[in-house]
Amino acid sequence: MLDNKNRIFQNLYGVKSPSLEAARKRGDWVAADTFVQKGRQWIVNEVLASGLRGRGGAGFSTGRKWSFMPKDAPLPSYIIINADESEPGTCKDRDIMRHEPHKLIEGALYAGVAIGANAGYIYIRGEYYAEALALQKAIDEAYAAGLLGKNAANGGYDFDLYVHRGAGAYICGEESALIQSLEGKKGMPRLKPPFPANCGLYGCPTTVNNVETIAVVPEILRRGGAWFASLGRPDSTGSKVFCISGHVNTPCNVEEEMGISMKTLIEKHAGGVRGGWDNLLAVIPGGSSTPMLPKDICETMTMDFESLRSVGTGLGTASLIVMDRSTDIVEAIVRLSHFYMHESCGQCTPCREGTGWVWRLLRNIGNGNAVLSDIDKLEELTYQIEGHTICALGDAAAWPIQGLLKHFRPELERRIRLVAA
Ligand code: SF4
Repeated sequence: MLDNKNRIFQNLYGVKSPSLEAARKRGDWVAADTFVQKGRQWIVNEVLASGLRGRGGAGFSTGRKWSFMPKDAPLPSYIIINADESEPGTCKDRDIMRHEPHKLIEGALYAGVAIGANAGYIYIRGEYYAEALALQKAIDEAYAAGLLGKNAANGGYDFDLYVHRGAGAYICGEESALIQSLEGKKGMPRLKPPFPANCGLYGCPTTVNNVETIAVVPEILRRGGAWFASLGRPDSTGSKVFCISGHVNTPCNVEEEMGISMKTLIEKHAGGVRGGWDNLLAVIPGGSSTPMLPKDICETMTMDFESLRSVGTGLGTASLIVMDRSTDIVEAIVRLSHFYMHESCGQCTPCREGTGWVWRLLRNIGNGNAVLSDIDKLEELTYQIEGHTICALGDAAAWPIQGLLKHFRPELERRIRLVAA
């Protein structure tokens, strides 16, 4: 478990003030001028040494992503912070923006230096109104204190930061759709390549990073990449904010060390499964798009990229949705399936048509209004969607159903046989 001295987020629960003055007392902005003056390569090297992987779901190396940015581009570069947190079960960035906004703003400055950007945008989902206000207030404080703008933090580097509110579309959390939306267009993903590092916002080199990813960077620079890398597992370093919701006694967000056991996380931090551990049915481990795991696998599972991938699921946003034995497991996935159908932007046929097909078929199977071969048809459909679309929403729609079929197929068969009898 994470030692208190290694905790990055000191005010995740909002017990103390989010103000600049209070943030400074917690250690934020200390030595900011030095870090900016040390320059681009030093920051990238520290982040590479830390082993930090993106906290928004994909888990790509942050340092490597930054190193892809061109060094002598004739066009301006941009850093975009993805605050369009909309994955069901995920609510970590919300707490960071509410209670620790200066960690994010300070991190944005260093990220800007690391990729050669003099301007950054925080793209925040429209529903996060209070969080947008909190961020703006913190940005205003930072400008007033000389931490942003010309000669930001006295480091000899100019950096401006803006908050941009989205309009509530889940798909705008996909980086190319986010860029389109920020440009004032319809938030629709586009084919990659070209990747944003070459052709992003306004056709300029751009890096898009998640809120939590950027918010941990200042502490990595202060304590050193090696410190962060000493926490967690070799390929899943550092600490992470886990969201635990569903059938637990005390749902919460908690910062813990990567590689912590799922059982410890639920029992120690979320008050345990409602009715006790033996009442557990399944856990969705990384936000709604990751395939669920049944209790027997949860028993020994650890929360890191590799372990979860080895059992056919993923760490995603590290947001656990706990389901006890009272859950109608089919209905739960029908609900998620409906969500992805609703949020499809409609550009690709497999996603536009397929998400509706799988939702209707699964709903009918759940009602027993189907034949046994429909289960195979449903599975085949998910594989026709997965990997055949412009963006990962198609995969996100397919994976929860594949998880259901892998672990709870007998339940689907039982329902069909019950109605047929
Ligand atoms: Fe749009 Fe779905 Fe295609 Fe993504 S996969 S671009 S959401 S239609």
